[in-house]
Amino acid sequence: MAVKTIWPIDHSCGHHADRDLSARPADRRAGFAEWLATQECTACWRASKEADEQDKAAWLDTKRAEEQAASDTWSQQYRMPPLEGTERAVPWGVRCRHQVLASAYTALVIEGDTSEAEWEEIEQSARTITRSGWWIDQRSSAPDDLPELLQAATDTDRPTENPYF
Ligand SMILES: [Zn+2]
Repeated sequence: MAVKTIWPIDHSCGHHADRDLSARPADRRAGFAEWLATQECTACWRASKEADEQDKAAWLDTKRAEEQAASDTWSQQYRMPPLEGTERAVPWGVRCRHQVLASAYTALVIEGDTSEAEWEEIEQSARTITRSGWWIDQRSSAPDDLPELLQAATDTDRPTENPYF
């Protein structure tokens, strides 16, 4: 008698399926059938995979919204002015400014020897930069480079970009 090719499988999800195992060598079918019984059926597997992906997308949306809310609250608390830029750049710039300033505060004041008074000057100078793109560009800068970056951005003695100069 030949080894059967159609195996009745009771899947872990409770569904029953007759699976055609003819593509597998005869001596491997029993082991494979046992393994199949520990799995969900194809329909359930597909459904839970889709649900996972939706969960993940929803989780990312929620996380992004939470970060945005935290940055908006922070901006109000520290009297940071609204930023300028495209619809896409502004919220991103707000999150970058929050992150850049918070990291700089930790590095300079909490871990460094910058005084609160010196920090207030840094903060004041940060308030004058309202271009979203500038904050987005500084998002990967070293936290303690911020004073130098701000100074470069607000340096009024900077030569004008005149090609004939
Ligand atoms: Zn199922």
